[in-house]
Amino acid sequence: MRIAVISDVHGNLAALEAVLAGIGRLGADEILSLGDVVGYGPDPSACLAAVRERCTVCLAGNHDAAVAGRSSLGNFNEYARRAAAWTTAALSAAELAYLAAQPLVARREGLLLVHASPREPEAWHYLFGPEDAAGQFDAFSEQLCLVGHTHRPGILALDPEGTVTPGAFPLAARRGRRCLVNAGSVGQPRDRDPRASFLLLDGVRGVLTVHRVAYPVERTQRRMREAGLPAFLAERLAVGI
Ligand code: ZN
Repeated sequence: MRIAVISDVHGNLAALEAVLAGIGRLGADEILSLGDVVGYGPDPSACLAAVRERCTVCLAGNHDAAVAGRSSLGNFNEYARRAAAWTTAALSAAELAYLAAQPLVARREGLLLVHASPREPEAWHYLFGPEDAAGQFDAFSEQLCLVGHTHRPGILALDPEGTVTPGAFPLAARRGRRCLVNAGSVGQPRDRDPRASFLLLDGVRGVLTVHRVAYPVERTQRRMREAGLPAFLAERLAVGI
């Protein structure tokens, strides 16, 4: 069983198409989406359709929830707020109802899946480093918890002594060790690598790998200019911030 995991597509269709092609080349039995399919990017409807067609799990992220009117825009900066309003207007009532109905948490093959954090998933905590992991491992019992939200792929590993340290890909299953693994972002990476990110879990070998694929950034930037979305949101894609 090979499971691909995507997150934070953010309406970037060129990036999503490149990732789906990359997953196709590697071969996966199932694709899971950890949320934020929409928000920021110029093609929310097309991305939502592709994710609904290809993914067996589609979690709600904070942008999905805000765009659908399920949570407030209170924590959003000016750019995110403008993009969210634009996205709400670009989606149909049926698409917004779909986003509003998606779960915050799902379980699969011994995995916990959540957009932001296993503890208080509705609070959208950011898990950047070990200092953010307090209380998080107590909130789930599975060996792996897969998250998105920060747009930075990475691993926080809890050893049997209770110490949390950053881990490295490829991640091999090890007895007694539990991990929070971030899938990074398909549509707006923020680790200074503009290539789209996704994970592949080889269930037979018990190995989790991260993959990066280049996509035509300028195609998405052009679509964003045409849509009148904030210029900064287009420019950041080229540098991965
Ligand atoms: Zn996001």
